[in-house]
Amino acid sequence: MTKAASSLFPVSENVAKMQASSTLAAMQAAESLRAQGVSVVDFGAGEPDFDTPENIKQAADRAMVAGRTKYTATAGTRELQQAIIDFYQREFDAGYERAEVMGTSGGKQAIFNAVVTLVNPVLLPSHYWVTFPEIVTFARATPIFIDTEDTGFLLTAAQVEKAITPRTKLIILNSPNNPSGRVIPPSEFERIMEVLADRGIYVISDECYLRFVYPPAEVFSAARLPERLRQRLCIAGSFSKTYAMTGWRMGYALAPREWTGAMLKVQGHSTSNANSIAQSAAVEALNGPQNSVAAMLSEYTARRAWLLDALKGIPRLSCAEPEGAFYVFPNVRNCLNTEVKSSAEFATRLLAEEQTVVTDGAGFGADGCVRISYATSMEQLREGVKRIKRFVERLGT
Ligand code: PLP
Repeated sequence: MTKAASSLFPVSENVAKMQASSTLAAMQAAESLRAQGVSVVDFGAGEPDFDTPENIKQAADRAMVAGRTKYTATAGTRELQQAIIDFYQREFDAGYERAEVMGTSGGKQAIFNAVVTLVNPVLLPSHYWVTFPEIVTFARATPIFIDTEDTGFLLTAAQVEKAITPRTKLIILNSPNNPSGRVIPPSEFERIMEVLADRGIYVISDECYLRFVYPPAEVFSAARLPERLRQRLCIAGSFSKTYAMTGWRMGYALAPREWTGAMLKVQGHSTSNANSIAQSAAVEALNGPQNSVAAMLSEYTARRAWLLDALKGIPRLSCAEPEGAFYVFPNVRNCLNTEVKSSAEFATRLLAEEQTVVTDGAGFGADGCVRISYATSMEQLREGVKRIKRFVERLGT
């Protein structure tokens, strides 16, 4: 496109400041190689490699046949709201009312709704999911990053306390974390929430990877905290990872009624209700048998153990042990040389020379690291690690 033509489309200031998704860039590069018939090992995926469980698909089928094809309330059907309330009561002993629950089109929309109703400035512990700063920017707010490298990327109450200023309004917490896979221990999580509650700061707890936690770490939701620590809390939840439902676009928000009311206004004038068929599927996901979640977790557990061990065999690459999600986040700084000078170049050259996709950490606020997703088969893991090892050994010679 010529310069003159591009100036005919002056995007708004807030959109101009947004960055395109770096995770999508990696996906596209892999796609174009595959289209040329190249055998690519893809560690870029931010989604389960499993199919949606059969009972959930059948519930969607039944919903379609029964004609559940109309608009629903913006907050979702009563059945969906009740299923979410029952889940939090059952799992975390947390009482929520219908006015505090809404279905959303993916967890992403829950976070979007929650940010745009509050904003400015927003604390973002680093490393963060690529979308957090972009939503904050879109909302014309300022992201303030909290560096957690000193504590192995595990956020602490002391770090939060130090970062707060009299203007701080909101923080986004994400545990289990994308990209690091780290899980904040429940006692530290509670200390963080104490600091925030004492200062009247609002919190979004992104619990998208809630169920994917590896012992001795524990599954923990902020919903479990005492009522007084939940007065300014919005939980953003998702069906995408837990039930392998990324394409269905189902998530939810749990927040105090006033905050939920504001979010309903935003959603009511943008996307309205989440997909009605996906809502019926989500009810089955929460109320139906959970053995498929256990099966996926057990597969991730085996892959994680194998991968962490195999990465130890790669020279100069160091990797903290993640307690959750399906990512490892090794530091490659010691693998770099005068030709491959950054983690971005590491990822690009690895793809070009060994046809293996990893995601550069820079987009997650972690220049020098790369994200490896183990939401892929053991066979691909074995092949990919072999290729990364060969590549790193060449860099060192
Ligand atoms: N939060 C985090 C940390 C994520 O990694 C993702 C997806 O990758 C989401 C939220 C959003 O998930 P979805 O919108 O598919 O529910």
